[in-house]
Amino acid sequence: MKIYKNKNLSEFTSFKIGGNTKYFIEIENLKDVEKFLKMNLDDKIFILGGGTNVLINDFDGIILKPKFEEIENLKDGILKIGSSVLVSELLEYAINLGYQGLEWAGGLPGTVGGAIEGGVGCFGGEFKNLILEVEAINLKTKEYRIFKKEECEFEYRNSFFRKNSGWLIISCKLIFNPGHNIEDLRKIAEEKIKYRKEKHPLEYPNAGSVFKNYPFDIASKRVKELALEKNKVKNDPFPVIPMAFLISEAGLKGKRIGDAQISEKHSNFIINLGKARFEDVYNLIEFTKKTLEDKFEISPEVEIRIIHNR
Ligand SMILES: Cc1cc2nc3c(=O)[nH]c(=O)nc-3n(C[C@H](O)[C@H](O)[C@H](O)COP(=O)(O)OP(=O)(O)OC[C@H]3O[C@@H](n4cnc5c(N)ncnc54)[C@H](O)[C@@H]3O)c2cc1C
Repeated sequence: MKIYKNKNLSEFTSFKIGGNTKYFIEIENLKDVEKFLKMNLDDKIFILGGGTNVLINDFDGIILKPKFEEIENLKDGILKIGSSVLVSELLEYAINLGYQGLEWAGGLPGTVGGAIEGGVGCFGGEFKNLILEVEAINLKTKEYRIFKKEECEFEYRNSFFRKNSGWLIISCKLIFNPGHNIEDLRKIAEEKIKYRKEKHPLEYPNAGSVFKNYPFDIASKRVKELALEKNKVKNDPFPVIPMAFLISEAGLKGKRIGDAQISEKHSNFIINLGKARFEDVYNLIEFTKKTLEDKFEISPEVEIRIIHNR
């Protein structure tokens, strides 16, 4: 276990933005978890994975950085994976075994823990579909538990672990379909990576989609009509209206506050042009929300986690 005081967080986030944290604690195994729990610290805790879905300011608490990086092949298509393994590493590992099931995640940044907590998905695929069970420990009550898939309460970009903070995901068991051709699997994953390079503003630091795509069912009449007229309803994983479309329609493409800008390439991304501060991104998110509420009578939900002292 390594403990740092007053650490700056910008190097740990894909936005390259971050204030200072009171404590930054790295843990590598279950013994470290035990040691950490015995310290009985009162401070609030935020668990940081790959930092690819967060906006962080100064944090008067503990940033806990797990480093559970093992992959164990349990045979018959089942892998046990430490929560800090990158999804990209896992994908490569699975492909090399001829295990099918994760190719949709080609180019998806972040760790396995972040993917579980955030209920991630794209191109019609969802991480939850591979899950058999999740091993986790509650940092407040110290309860250790193995969650069956149903107990993880997965929803669109949500899970039990996001709804009930304090659970540190340690590992998971995933089930794949074995016996596939390695080159075929790699080709599918590479197509996704290529698509992302073309469509997403990867030239700049960012944290992925800022808002969750809007469920068609609950959209205002005006937005429903607009999306149908422009053929913009997509099924991923249920009928949604892409927020990139709505943000563009609201005329916000390229809108800039400080060095934070709504990407010209993909309007649901905010990019850091160089020196963007927490406030720049935060204010741009609030401005976008308000504009969409006023213009379209919808209440978009922010997808990225915003961490600050307020
Ligand atoms: C360029 C780009 C493209 C993206 N595309 C997509 C996409 O197509 N689909 C999609 O769904 N997302 C996408 N994202 C968002 C992001 O990649 C995912 O949400 C990712 O799974 C976050 O993982 P992370 O390890 O970086 O988590 P972090 O950003 O570090 O944290 C995110 C949340 O997960 C929690 N968390 C992380 N690890 C653990 C753990 N071990 N135990 C408990 N909680 C934990 C954190 O507390 C936090 O609440 C994209 C991001 C970027 C930058």
